[in-house]
Amino acid sequence: MTRNILEWVKQGIVLGDGGYLLELERRGYVQSGSDRTTVGTGKGSGQYTPEVGIENPAALRGLHEEFRMAGSQVLQALTFFATRGKLTRAGYGSQTETINRAAVRIAREAAGSEGLVAGSVSRTQLFEREGPSASGHVRDQFVEQMALLKAGGVDLLILETFFHLEEMLIALACARATNLPIVATMSFRPRLTESTDGHSPAECARRMAGEGAALVGANCEQEPARMLPILREMREAVDIPLAAQPAAFHTTDTTPCFTRLPQFPDDLETIQVARSEFRNFAARAKAEGLGFLGGCCGCNSAYIRAMASGLKAGSRQQVNPEAEEGSA
Ligand SMILES: [Zn+2]
Repeated sequence: MTRNILEWVKQGIVLGDGGYLLELERRGYVQSGSDRTTVGTGKGSGQYTPEVGIENPAALRGLHEEFRMAGSQVLQALTFFATRGKLTRAGYGSQTETINRAAVRIAREAAGSEGLVAGSVSRTQLFEREGPSASGHVRDQFVEQMALLKAGGVDLLILETFFHLEEMLIALACARATNLPIVATMSFRPRLTESTDGHSPAECARRMAGEGAALVGANCEQEPARMLPILREMREAVDIPLAAQPAAFHTTDTTPCFTRLPQFPDDLETIQVARSEFRNFAARAKAEGLGFLGGCCGCNSAYIRAMASGLKAGSRQQVNPEAEEGSA
């Protein structure tokens, strides 16, 4: 079978994984940064960086294997927040190359001959810290990281958890130069109706598709039900397949993004969504025009197993609309 995800998506919905950093934080291998004076993008915060790939590779390999056994066809190398700048703020800048290469190697070993490996590229946090004047610096960091991922042998790139469309478009320009298939998903915070820099989901979808993303969509921040209106707006705007990687945390009407809730990062267990919500979301994925499905923060292999079950139920419904009535 071809190792091109675009061919896979033509055959049916492709199932990914997600939520590595938070799950490994729960297991004690990743720092959340909550014991620092500033959480989030504050100066000096070094939270949620992926040095686990070199410090405790067996823990990372084990989680990859859990996802693969649960049904993940694409494993994301744990290269989220592994740009040189972010790693430098966490004290790991000099190991940027080692961390990225180790993450790809571990994911490839776990994926075996069947699965695909995605390089995960996230926002640099420089747009939040410095504003658009950071553009040149941002571009340099993406170029460096994507070259490492390509050299490591990833099958595709997933650009995810971008709050600023402007930064996403820089990432897309760098990603296009690698000639790898690109999945691009924005995260909507603090509002569902626009990116942090003021672009609607529809506009984000159009611009990302126009800049070379093969699949576009949303990831992180919201649970499936609250993410759905974003995806539907994107669905209306583009005719390429969508990608969705929702978070597994309940958000609220006033704060529809879990990283702005007081439960982040130490009390997230109190807002965890049931895995059945992921199953139900997956069961209607085809009807919603999704081509790629996974999870994000709060997700673990139980949620992906539920999604695999939902996808099966959804395809049975396509054959027999009476089957499993009401489950989606
Ligand atoms: Zn997330």
